[in-house]
Amino acid sequence: MIVVLKNNVSPEEENAVVEEIKKLGYRPHVMHGVARTVIGAIGDEHSHRDLDVLNAWTQVESVTPIQKRHKLVSREAHPQNSTVNAGGVIVGGKKIQVMAGPCSVESEEQLMKTAHAVKAAGASMLRGGAFKPRTSPYEFQGLGEEGLKLLAKAREETGLPIVTELLSQDQAELVAEYSDMLQIGTRNAQNFQLIIAAAKTGKPVLLKRGMSMRIMEWLLAGEYVLANRNPNLLFCERGIRTFEDYTRNTLDLSAVAVVKAESHCPIVVDPSQGCGKASLVRSMCKGAVAVGADALLVEVHPNPTEAISDAAQQIDLEGFAALIDELAPIAESVGREI
Ligand code: PEP
Ligand code: MN
Repeated sequence: MIVVLKNNVSPEEENAVVEEIKKLGYRPHVMHGVARTVIGAIGDEHSHRDLDVLNAWTQVESVTPIQKRHKLVSREAHPQNSTVNAGGVIVGGKKIQVMAGPCSVESEEQLMKTAHAVKAAGASMLRGGAFKPRTSPYEFQGLGEEGLKLLAKAREETGLPIVTELLSQDQAELVAEYSDMLQIGTRNAQNFQLIIAAAKTGKPVLLKRGMSMRIMEWLLAGEYVLANRNPNLLFCERGIRTFEDYTRNTLDLSAVAVVKAESHCPIVVDPSQGCGKASLVRSMCKGAVAVGADALLVEVHPNPTEAISDAAQQIDLEGFAALIDELAPIAESVGREI
């Protein structure tokens, strides 16, 4: 159910409603919007007492059922866009944020060189994998904690907040300690226990779309983050499996428009995993900005042909700088900046 409070309700009056919702057997999620405060009351409406009693309270404007299955993630519960703060970088506002860096953290030299170059070109966050979910067990699995330490060092040197992936629940605290945003990869997009563990760290969670996931399943996977009291969720479209094999995946830009319409949470587009080809990254970034992405996640490597993972899709440092320059007028044309 959605409980909408009247304008100018005091914190004490708000708290009284929250306590009543708990007494009736529901979990309250308070969302302070610009215009009004909305409380999502989550629970089984058949087995708990009726929230309609709140209609009689003077500080309550309305009590209505949430129709959507993706309750807290939906615009029904929270009509305005949400913003997520990752180490001081705001995603979901006017500025389109760019998260850039190598697929894998390979060495100090590779990471520092990339971090300084992407920062100079205008990136706002540094991405890099320390724990890599490789298809084959014989491929490079990442530097692990050593990679996290290098990412933290790069943040110290450049000021860029870090986004990096975790693969298992027992890595959640460790990865959260070193980073500013936790990435849940496509292969774990419905690993609900992992999503819950990431949510419970309190850090922003970037939830990639599962490669065979329907949009509704993705929204519901995101619901696990908000339902576990972490409002800092970002969706990330990274391509899905289709019959087309010219590209590694099919980047579904229509999903960006759908998620924007259905949800208040920011959406990120990753054209690197999306296409698997460096030559397509530029045009797909342009499309993503035009269609309403709040951020881009781009793989950048100082020497892509020698990258240990995802060599074909990483762009080089010069290519990245040129890309940012090219995106500026497109961002401006849709009322954004980059
Ligand atoms: C990555 O970002 O390098 C990655 C492995 O992403 P995905 O989970 O989308 O394949
Ligand atoms: Mn990659």
